[in-house]
Amino acid sequence: MKKFLLCTDLDRTLIPNGVQPVSPLAMERFKQMVSRAEITLAYVTGRHQALIEQAIAQFDLPRPDFAIADVGSSIYQLGSFGWRQWDEWDRQIAPDWRGWSHGELYRFLSVFPALQLQEKEKQGRHKLSFYIPLEMDAHALRLEMGVRLVQAGIKANLIWSIDEEAGVGLLDVLPVSANKLHAIRFLMQREGFRHENTVFSGDSGNDLDVLLSDIPSVLVANADAEVKGRAAEGNPQALYVASGNYLGMNGNYSAGILEGAAHFWPEVNVWLRELD
Ligand SMILES: [Mg+2]
Repeated sequence: MKKFLLCTDLDRTLIPNGVQPVSPLAMERFKQMVSRAEITLAYVTGRHQALIEQAIAQFDLPRPDFAIADVGSSIYQLGSFGWRQWDEWDRQIAPDWRGWSHGELYRFLSVFPALQLQEKEKQGRHKLSFYIPLEMDAHALRLEMGVRLVQAGIKANLIWSIDEEAGVGLLDVLPVSANKLHAIRFLMQREGFRHENTVFSGDSGNDLDVLLSDIPSVLVANADAEVKGRAAEGNPQALYVASGNYLGMNGNYSAGILEGAAHFWPEVNVWLRELD
């Protein structure tokens, strides 16, 4: 049996939580497609485990076989046993932090009093997440942190964003090699999926490293213009931009995923047409 690995971002890719309209039949068709034994489903998201569970319940999503969570810093396998974190992924990315634990790195960075540790469920073995008051000069703070980390031989990415609603800055400290692209490559290698048997779908900036890579990828039609512009620089052989008009659907969210999966995998196109 030919096997396929379908990797998808959640927010505004599989989950229709954007402003664009949703095609009514798309999610049901998506569920039927991924329920087939040939398909291995992986969610690839910035969400942590509890927020993925929440999304599955709230939007009635199918349970995946794998979840690449916390922007690529953790990989879980899901099954009748529940969620099992892949220790081998942690071993792979641990050298970036010199093998230091979350607690050891936290203590090392505690010289910066502006860093306020986020709640426990937002932390990961290799994800250290802080709040920073918006009145702080976050740029200068990140520069100082960067210097201290480099001097200690720690290879980290500092990912800065602002929670507009809560009015607070968010700073994630991740191993430099913990990202969506590297995690997908690790999953492909471990589970024996080649490029032609893999498709990724996404919509936004933190999906770009995968969308612009050699992994066959789909940009859903509801992606914003800036990401569409950047994606145009990508490899046309490996990137498909959904535009709608597939089986009467509009190409947004799961409709775009289906359109792209059918583009790369003729077998999937046949299955989807047989559903009608
Ligand atoms: Mg998204």
